[in-house]
Amino acid sequence: MANENTPLGANVPLAIRLAEPSELDTAERAPAETPPIVPTDADADVPSVTFSPSEGANWFFLQAAQHLSINSEVVELLKSPWRELHVEIPVHTEDGHLRVYSGFRVQHSGARGPYKGGVRFHPLADLDEVRALAALMTWKTSIIDIPFGGAKGGVQIDPRSVPTSELQQVTRGYLENIAHLLGVYRDVPAPDMGTDAQTMAWMMDSYGKRYGYAPGIVTGKPIAMGGSYGRTEATGRGVSLIVRDTLETMGRDPAKMRVAIQGFGNVGSYSAKYLSELGCPVVAVSDVRGGIHNADGLDIDAVIEHAARTGSVVEMPGTDPLPADEVRSADGALVASGLLGVDCDVLIPAALGEVINASNWENVQASIIIEAANHPVTPYADYQLSKRGTVVVPDIVANAGGVLVSYFEWTQNIQQHRWSLEQVNSELERMLCDAYTNVRKLAHDEGVALRTAAFMVGVERVVEALELRGLVPANGAHHED
Ligand code: NAD
Repeated sequence: MANENTPLGANVPLAIRLAEPSELDTAERAPAETPPIVPTDADADVPSVTFSPSEGANWFFLQAAQHLSINSEVVELLKSPWRELHVEIPVHTEDGHLRVYSGFRVQHSGARGPYKGGVRFHPLADLDEVRALAALMTWKTSIIDIPFGGAKGGVQIDPRSVPTSELQQVTRGYLENIAHLLGVYRDVPAPDMGTDAQTMAWMMDSYGKRYGYAPGIVTGKPIAMGGSYGRTEATGRGVSLIVRDTLETMGRDPAKMRVAIQGFGNVGSYSAKYLSELGCPVVAVSDVRGGIHNADGLDIDAVIEHAARTGSVVEMPGTDPLPADEVRSADGALVASGLLGVDCDVLIPAALGEVINASNWENVQASIIIEAANHPVTPYADYQLSKRGTVVVPDIVANAGGVLVSYFEWTQNIQQHRWSLEQVNSELERMLCDAYTNVRKLAHDEGVALRTAAFMVGVERVVEALELRGLVPANGAHHED
């Protein structure tokens, strides 16, 4: 590990420095190598079962910081967000009342570039969760080596329960209240749970009214407003590439890998579509209303069509309903629908955070978990699953395809030049798969879990930027071994 006498960055893990040219852009793709490892560390500390989301995200960060010998002052700096904003959003309801919503924007680190992160509309969005998600964005953008920092936003609203006119008012009110923190080169929001391309169009329009035309102020916009081809499906496409490479390195045949996916929104539905195209039988999917199962594999195109028509995957003909899980959120709502414990090989949580936790990790039957949602596995569950030998590909790698194509969208807006879908998809594959290969190699070299290796890559690059900016003493971020 680097120490204070080492030239900047010269002695950090090799895999971080080596950006090997990708062979994926050639017609003949070289097979992915270096399977994920699940190290057994009998002396590992047992994480608390009562961590809040931000404590949980920091737990993973601290493991990596320890491996990298990052000194305690720098750890303190990175444990907390750089800036947090809580806003009130008053709206006039259609029946003549005043309703006030709460919203947040948290900027965790801008060391490597403008703050970047989605905005979540969910009734249970809260500041601590947004804090956790902002930090994860810092590490994610660093791992895939794009020039962004990390941020996240949230508004406490159930977007499905209000009329479109009210949703538009809330979106514009939120944007206006946080606009002074935003900028094409300062902070660039994007969609997340409960928000979509339409939300981004309203945000871009509100921002433009005050500051002038600036399509690069948000990503995930509609194509007609300067959005990028391939952005809507990018996270799910990226998840399927991560599954492909994981199975390839482990010598597993996709046709024999039964997949279950929790959440059938943007990420879940596109993951299902691409994985079924890859030849994986997708045996179960679920959404907020329940789950469906077919041991022979679901017809995913038909499920997508059914969900688009009825608003849910439930009651899809030719499928069995999944029994309810005992996993409930703070307000007592059902968080899972028997899907997490379904008999499958690859489990993909693609909905809420912390759904695999102390109360249910033992029910998980899959030997591989691909984290498409953010923070879906708590540190305690992660610790127990790792002891059991379950491969967990962490969110900060597995779902990074979304922010990667957001980066492509931002660069296209700045260049004022649109890329073709083929260019977007081939760059997505090249950069995401290279980043994942780097993480797997580092995990092998250091004998650590994929998550720890991923955090190590992300943290080391952020620390290097802090040193170069002079925000921490040059070469002083690491203590001597
Ligand atoms: P979305 O709003 O499009 O879809 C969310 C899905 O989860 C819906 O099908 C909803 O019914 C389901 N869901 C909600 N509550 C549920 C519950 N209690 N049980 C089962 N299912 C439930 O959201 P999305 O954009 O697909 O995001 C899903 C996850 O992926 C989130 O954790 C988000 O942070 C993460 N993510 C999204 C992106 C992106 O580009 N959209 C990128 C990276 C990570």
